[in-house]
Amino acid sequence: MRFLFRLCFLFCFFAAVLLAQSPDAPLPFQLKLIGPNVWAAIDDAKGDAGANAGFVVGDDGVAVIDTFENEAAAKALEGQIHSLTHLPIKFVVNTHYHLDHVAGNRVFAQQGAVIVGHHSVRAWIHTENLKFFGEKIKPDEKAMVQNLFAPEVTYDTGVTLFLGTRRIEVTYMQGHTGGDSVVSIPDAGIVFCGDLFWRHTLPNLIDATTSTWISTLSGFTEEKADTLPNSALPRAVIFVPGHGDVGNAEDVQEFQAYLTWLRAAVKKGVDANKKGDALVGAVLPELREKYGSWDFFKDFSRSNILDTGAELEGRKRIPVAQKK
Ligand SMILES: [Zn+2]
Repeated sequence: MRFLFRLCFLFCFFAAVLLAQSPDAPLPFQLKLIGPNVWAAIDDAKGDAGANAGFVVGDDGVAVIDTFENEAAAKALEGQIHSLTHLPIKFVVNTHYHLDHVAGNRVFAQQGAVIVGHHSVRAWIHTENLKFFGEKIKPDEKAMVQNLFAPEVTYDTGVTLFLGTRRIEVTYMQGHTGGDSVVSIPDAGIVFCGDLFWRHTLPNLIDATTSTWISTLSGFTEEKADTLPNSALPRAVIFVPGHGDVGNAEDVQEFQAYLTWLRAAVKKGVDANKKGDALVGAVLPELREKYGSWDFFKDFSRSNILDTGAELEGRKRIPVAQKK
């Protein structure tokens, strides 16, 4: 039985690889079968999808996790789902409000899927996303943000979704924006972490509270998870990040170590009264030496130092997490 199961898994895996590499339909992501009927859609090297997404096929429907940075990528994902199953897409979970994870919501909503997210995602999707375009935001960019499809079902600490007998646990967790959730598939030992986990990739800390984030990540991999506040998170062996390739517990710990290291390195500079360029100059050489090979180093190394400095000095502006 176990052998048959594995054989089926392998067959599906190679089918997925073939699908993903079909020359007729270049995809903005790589589709990976990571467990029984659980798929990760990993953004391509050019960043055409903007972020990772994924989906789970249950007995009577499909749940999608995140919807990329643009509708074209979401449509490509929808096409892949329909080529693998005739079951309807019932739910879409947004792991957080950032544009690169919600911009394709409408594609699935138009098919009848219910968009689910933390109260904060609904509260911030049309407002906080404007800041990514800066002060010189163009009218069409503003319209695009204001036209994003917001979650229609929201929750406080989490929600359980059922696809027939298949259970999906959505759990609110703090650190990255104050309004993030992880999506666990307990029967497969898989967690879609959204942007609470970046694999070999420097994170976007614009809304982050790294002190809280570091303890949240302990809950992902701690052996005795039931003694921790994050005990709602089932044990997992596969962790899908918001950016970067599919990872394991070690990769999560490596990312946690990055945040811990960054806080310590920036604190040294802050304690020496360094600010702005001087703070960046004090931390950047060692940051490059240790993490220069990680993706997004050029994009986020400077802002990671400045954001962490602001957090340590207690002057960082972050969105306030929303209740109902
Ligand atoms: Zn992201």
